[in-house]
Amino acid sequence: MSASRPDIVCPEAGPEAPYPLRMEGKVIAGFGRGSKELGIPTANLPVDAALTPWIATVPSGVYFGYAAIALPDTHPSRPAGTPAGGLGVFPMVMSIGYNPFYKNTVRSAEVHVLHAFAADFYGAHMRLLLLGFIREEKDYKSLEALVDDINFDCEVARKSLAREAWRPEAASAESAAWLVKPL
Ligand code: ADP
Ligand code: MG
Repeated sequence: MSASRPDIVCPEAGPEAPYPLRMEGKVIAGFGRGSKELGIPTANLPVDAALTPWIATVPSGVYFGYAAIALPDTHPSRPAGTPAGGLGVFPMVMSIGYNPFYKNTVRSAEVHVLHAFAADFYGAHMRLLLLGFIREEKDYKSLEALVDDINFDCEVARKSLAREAWRPEAASAESAAWLVKPL
């Protein structure tokens, strides 16, 4: 565990400008770097700066907020009470960086959803509400150091989002409605 940084970030009173930031798309296959084997699978979204203009200029690093996923009606991990065709909302932590496949010229967006899923959800439509920034990208000496830091990011996201003013509805009624809007 990283004790050298706070385990809660951003003001108690709720998200500040420019948040909330939104993006959406269908979950695609990532780079196959074995995130799942490390216990931190990341659902990758295509990045299209035409649809998501803010993504061209934000700093690379780790962000947190909520993910709404249109899990198929047959998916074993649909939250109880989700209407047919409805989206389930989960806390998430995500990385925005550069995609090595495109020689680091195109941005990448990968989301670790803070929920244990009983099955994959490739192809599902996912909406993201980014509410804050956790930290900049870093280089690691070891895989273990990387995994420790990401696990700490998950804790920071959970604790930061658990505050009253960080519920989706409290953060922005309009964005909370957008998150679960039927497809
Ligand atoms: P890839 O390189 O294809 O992105 P990963 O090892 O990162 O492979 O696994 C990502 C996939 O795992 C996601 O696309 C999703 O279908 C599934 N998955 C299962 N649980 C989670 C989770 N908690 N967060 C994100 N993705 C998850
Ligand atoms: Mg991934």
